[in-house]
Amino acid sequence: MSHKIAVIAGDGIGPEVLAEGVKVLNAVSKLDPEIQFDFTHFPWGCEFYHKHGKMMDDDGIEQLRQFDAIFLGAVGYPGVPDHISLWDLLLVIRKSFDQYVNVRPIKLLNGAPCPLKGKSAQDINMTFIRENTEGEYAGYGSWLYKDKPHEVVIQNAVFSRVGCERIIRYAFELGRKEKRSVTSVSKANALNYSMVFWDQIFKQVEEEYPDVKTASYLVDAAAMLMVTQPERFEIVVTSNLFGDILTDLGAAIAGGMGLAAGANLNPERQYPSMFEPIHGSAPDIAGQQIANPLATVWSASQLLAFLGYPQWAERLINAIEHLLVEGKTLTPDLKGSATTSEVGDAVVAYLQANY
Ligand code: ATP
Ligand code: MG
Repeated sequence: MSHKIAVIAGDGIGPEVLAEGVKVLNAVSKLDPEIQFDFTHFPWGCEFYHKHGKMMDDDGIEQLRQFDAIFLGAVGYPGVPDHISLWDLLLVIRKSFDQYVNVRPIKLLNGAPCPLKGKSAQDINMTFIRENTEGEYAGYGSWLYKDKPHEVVIQNAVFSRVGCERIIRYAFELGRKEKRSVTSVSKANALNYSMVFWDQIFKQVEEEYPDVKTASYLVDAAAMLMVTQPERFEIVVTSNLFGDILTDLGAAIAGGMGLAAGANLNPERQYPSMFEPIHGSAPDIAGQQIANPLATVWSASQLLAFLGYPQWAERLINAIEHLLVEGKTLTPDLKGSATTSEVGDAVVAYLQANY
């Protein structure tokens, strides 16, 4: 089957790591001709912004709508305010295509560095399900008073019943399917409207899944426990802001930013879903061929799983783990001396040798 993939390589290290992701997907279709990819590249991002005064074409969303998936590198670069590069490209895609599920695997592979003493691959294996369209990132707020020096601003969080229920239900469906526990992370003691509501809905949905084990933590306690007892967590469902923060913590305990991947899913498949490494454009290392492409390969694995090829998804993870255990072909962030493209080549070589 042929799949139409929109490629937005973006800024900084985005194009370098995405090239390796595309290389790996092309290798998959070479090995398994049943799987074909039709890639279309879009030059959107901060360079486009400097030329055209906008992050993407005016009808960018319309152009993307016809694709089966979007494969994204990284957006953002010094010179373009972060709130523009983020809102006018990434967040507009997430919202327009109702990609309300952000799936971030926090899985320590064998061979990956872990800063927690005494913790191994068995202890760190969680799947974060982050709400991706509303909550604290709903984008509503106002300048209440503008007179200096007494300015006051308000940033509103939006929690809808539909929004909370569907993300919590997604987590429970996954928990049932994978026979894993579901943990809710909230903060009802301090956020006395939004998180009280979240907790209520979690309790309601929980009743429909008596076969799924559950737990609930306040976000501060969850942050501590992820470091001291990460083995407590399997599937974790949480709001947009908390998920953003905790998954960076998760990336740090599971091998670093160079290994952290994320999928933005529209589970109903009404619109395209988007797959990306969670790191940014990393201007400090851009253009040097030293960025780690393994996070991008991991997001390619999520893409393959979503398109219906779980065995291939697993093979890509096996390839990453093989490289980590072997330790010969890794980028400098993982104490290696290989280039970005050598790491991509090594993933391809593993796939070829193990198929
Ligand atoms: P953002 O503002 O979107 O967070 P950023 O440019 O600050 O983006 P981060 O993803 O937050 O980048 O990464 C912080 C640092 O981690 C980078 O500056 C870089 O040094 C390192 N880093 C991130 N991704 C990678 C990677 N794929 N390979 C190697 N190092 C990376
Ligand atoms: Mg950053």
